[in-house]
Amino acid sequence: MKQSQNNSKKSGGKTFIYPKKPHGKLYNQRKWVSYVLLLLLFSSPFIKLNGEQLILLNFLERKFVFFGLIFTPQDFYLFALAMLIFILFIVFFTVILGRLWCGWACPQTIFMEMVFRRIEYWIEGDANQQRKLDAQEWNREKILKKGFKHFLFLVISFLISNVFLAYIIGSDKLYQIITEPISEHTAGFISIWIFTFVFYGVFSYVREVVCTVICPYGRLQGVLLDNKSLVVAYDETRGEPRGFIQKNADQSLKGDCIDCGLCVQVCPTGIDIREGTQLECVNCTACIDACDEVMLKINKPEKLIGFYNHDFIQNRNKFKFGLRAYAYAVVLALVIVIFSSLIYKREDVQTTVLRASGTLYQKRADGSIANLYNAELINKTNKDMKFVFRSVDNTDKIELIQADTVLKKEGSARLTFFLIKQPKNIKEFKSKVKFEVEVNGEVISSTTTTFFSQP
Ligand code: SF4
Ligand code: SF4
Repeated sequence: MKQSQNNSKKSGGKTFIYPKKPHGKLYNQRKWVSYVLLLLLFSSPFIKLNGEQLILLNFLERKFVFFGLIFTPQDFYLFALAMLIFILFIVFFTVILGRLWCGWACPQTIFMEMVFRRIEYWIEGDANQQRKLDAQEWNREKILKKGFKHFLFLVISFLISNVFLAYIIGSDKLYQIITEPISEHTAGFISIWIFTFVFYGVFSYVREVVCTVICPYGRLQGVLLDNKSLVVAYDETRGEPRGFIQKNADQSLKGDCIDCGLCVQVCPTGIDIREGTQLECVNCTACIDACDEVMLKINKPEKLIGFYNHDFIQNRNKFKFGLRAYAYAVVLALVIVIFSSLIYKREDVQTTVLRASGTLYQKRADGSIANLYNAELINKTNKDMKFVFRSVDNTDKIELIQADTVLKKEGSARLTFFLIKQPKNIKEFKSKVKFEVEVNGEVISSTTTTFFSQP
C-alpha cells in the first residue's frame, strides 16, 4: 500500500509541485465556498448601490467606497479603523482557527486551487499524468495540451486583471478603457496587460510560493498560533508508530497511520503534515479528505488528520478558547463599537469654519461686532446639493463676501463671510458660535468655532 510520498520535482530554481487531485467531503464544501466567493469577487465592482459601486479601492484618487458609502481623504481615520478591524479579525480568526482563511477564503488559493489547478487537471490529467507529460519530448500532444492550458490561463488572468482594475479605478472607467480608442487610455490599456502577465506568472509559475514565502501572513502564523489554536494537524498519539499494513504482522503494535503517503501527495504546498504544524501549511484540508478515505478503507475512525489543537493531541484536553482569544475578541469588539459609532455620526457634508488669519474682531459704525471667517464644505455623496449656510443663533447676521451655494457631487464649496453680533448679545471676550448647513430644509452638517469681541 506504500506509495511515493514526494509530490514535487526540482525544475530550474523552483521546486515544482504535482499535488494529486483532491476529493472528499471537505473539498466539495470548499468548492461551494469558492463559487460564492468568486461570484462576490467578480460581481462587486459591477453592482451599484446609491449610484456607487459596491466596493471601490481607488488609492490613486484616494476615494474608497464600501456598500454605497463614500470615504474621502478626510475620512482617512475611518479607513484606518476599518483596516485595523480587518487585521484584528484576521488575528482573532487565526488564534482560534489557524490559517483557515488561507485555504478556504484567500483569493490566491481560490484562484490557484479552484480555477487554475482544476483546468490543469482537466487538460493534463492527475499528478502522475502531469509528471509524465512534463518529462516527455515536445510532441503534438504536449504542444496542444500545454498550448491550450496556457491560453486558458492567459484568458483567465486577463479577466482577473480587468476585475482587479475595476476595484482600483472603478468599473465605469474600466468600461471606457475597453470601449474607447486605445490612444485615449494608453496607461489604462498598458496596466490591464501588465496585471494580466503578473497574474499569469503567479498562477502558472510562482504558485504556492506566494503562500509559503511571499505572503507575510503565513510568516506571522508562528507568532499568532498557540497550543489552543485549531489547525490542520496529524493526531500523532493515534497515528504513531506508523507503518504499512503487512500480512501476518501484529497490527495492534502499530498506530493508525499506514504510511501510505496520500496526505503528502495531495498537499499543494508539498509538505508532510505528520511532521507537525508548518509555516507552509495553508490549512486547505486536502490531507484530511485523503486520510479519511484511507481510514474508511482500513475500517478505522476518520480524522487521523483533522482540526485539532496541540493541547488535544498531547493531553487529550477538549477545545476551549485560550486567554489570547478572549483578549483579541474584547479588543476587536471595542474597535468595532468605536468604528460603528463614528460611522453613525458621520455627516454627508463635512463643514470646517476657521477664523481668517490676522484678524480678531471689527467694531462697526453701528456698534455691532464682526468676525471674519473662511468655511469649507466637502460633499461626500455623489449628488449635487443646493445649500443654505447659517448661524444657529438667529440674532446673528452673516455677511457673505465669497459665496458658493451649490455643492457639487464629491466636490467642495468655499465661503468667506463676516459673522455680525449686536453688543447686547455679547457676554464675554471669547464665545462659541455654531453654524449649520441646510439642504432641502434639513440640517445635514454643523460645526462650532469661536467669536471674539470686546464684551
Ligand atoms: S498539510 Fe494538509 S492542510 Fe496543510 S497545505 Fe498540505 S494538504 Fe493542505
Ligand atoms: S496520515 Fe493518513 S494519509 Fe497520511 S500516510 Fe498516514 S494513513 Fe496515509
